[in-house]
Amino acid sequence: MPLIELIDVVKRYKIGEQEILALDGIDLTIDQGEYAAIIGPSGSGKSTLMHLLGCLDTPTSGTMLIDGIDVSRASGNKLSEMRNQKIGFVFQSFNLLPKLTVLQNVELPMIYAGVSARERRERAMVAIERVELQNRVKNTPLQLSGGQMQRVAIARALVNNPRIIFADEPTGNLDSRTGANILQLFRELSTGGCTIVLVTHDAKIAAQTPRRIEIRDGKIVDSESMDPLLSGQ
Ligand code: ADP
Ligand code: ADP
Repeated sequence: MPLIELIDVVKRYKIGEQEILALDGIDLTIDQGEYAAIIGPSGSGKSTLMHLLGCLDTPTSGTMLIDGIDVSRASGNKLSEMRNQKIGFVFQSFNLLPKLTVLQNVELPMIYAGVSARERRERAMVAIERVELQNRVKNTPLQLSGGQMQRVAIARALVNNPRIIFADEPTGNLDSRTGANILQLFRELSTGGCTIVLVTHDAKIAAQTPRRIEIRDGKIVDSESMDPLLSGQ
């Protein structure tokens, strides 16, 4: 069963009298464990598409199923429940709280989810080990490199065991080698069954993911699936 399924999804924004057609009939399927990049120029609709996929907003028309649940007309509460149960977010600017330690930052989503202190500690440590930062748990973000900060953000996205991680320009503030390490970490997570969808305007970043979903003027123009590591090189 596909994890994400969009059928003829349209998103319009109204600004006064003016209407903007941000997404113009999107058909898209993403399976569990896929690792895909949404790519396209500025203004093409990437952020709008990710906001819909991330259950931050609903389409103007069309059908959107996430993990088999129809969220096309879901209420704000239902969307919030979907985000908390199924989705992790990673951002270009890491969005870590500077006064909290690595461990406390990673524990945060579980405080919102009402997990006990002991379980929070245990699950945070498991996530921190997955990103190999167990020797930095007591540091604060400003004591870390950019790549380490992004790994903390990924650990934080992982702690509620999401089905999907959405990453918005996750390597935008990193040098290319550090960025490649983050992309490799996503690849490992997807091999473990977590679906990863990242958004980028950078073709060099997108070229490092097994699947590219290219969007222009609100339409998908190409959705190839070809793993550069598995193809003939
Ligand atoms: P991208 O992420 O590829 O730069 P966006 O999804 O942000 O593209 O934008 C697609 C189109 O929708 C653009 O024309 C943009 O101006 C418009 N748009 C995006 N968000 C809003 C909004 N909240 N209100 C009005 N128009 C918006
Ligand atoms: P709740 O309604 O339960 O408080 P949140 O607002 O905490 O839900 O959102 C859940 C997730 O969605 C969080 O991981 C948060 O980072 C992400 N999120 C919330 N608003 C935005 C936004 N405008 N853009 C991107 N991600 C967002």
